Amino acid sequence: MRQPGKGKAFFDLCDAFAVRGCAVCALVERDLTRQVDLLFGEFCNDPPTRRRLVEGGGFCERHSRLIEGCLGQCLGVALVYHDLVCSLASRLGQPTMRLPRQECPLCADQRRAEDSYLDQVLAHYDAPQLQAAYVGSFGLCLAHYERALHRCPDGAFRHRVQSQQREHLRRLERDLVEFIRKQDYRFAKEDHGEERDCWRRAVRLVRW
Ligand SMILES: [Zn+2]
Ligand SMILES: [Zn+2]
Repeated sequence: MRQPGKGKAFFDLCDAFAVRGCAVCALVERDLTRQVDLLFGEFCNDPPTRRRLVEGGGFCERHSRLIEGCLGQCLGVALVYHDLVCSLASRLGQPTMRLPRQECPLCADQRRAEDSYLDQVLAHYDAPQLQAAYVGSFGLCLAHYERALHRCPDGAFRHRVQSQQREHLRRLERDLVEFIRKQDYRFAKEDHGEERDCWRRAVRLVRW
């Protein structure tokens, strides 16, 4: 595997492992929100960009929600969707009446960003700063853990990643037990600690 250098992504990851969820999810979400803002703002009048968005034939449900939330760029959204709607309407006038369905353009961007962050994690797995942040984190979500495993250079590396993820899941399991225990009226007066948001972290981590 070609080793990417320690760039901004490396330091972003070190910081993002402090979030109460998957660091890769957090960074990709941040990047995609910026990307949507740029695509429908600065670049919506750039012909190649607009063509790429229109040729995709639309966006998946998840990214449509992200675009819908892009309130500052509603004009750009209207312009791109005008082209999309025109293209779809004219295709429905053709004999096959089939709608174009390519991969959602933002799904493709998301996959590239995910792979790039995961390659940074694997390339610098033993860097003390990243290792400390990763071990102290709540782990990767199942989707990113699986992707990381596929990108490991060999079985020994996969085993290390697996062992670390098991540690993260064990920690989550202990937090869930503690959270459930404190819901019992006999212990309800005890202060909540690290386990206070474990149910939310569980939903964030156990996702494909
Ligand atoms: Zn994730
Ligand atoms: Zn998508």
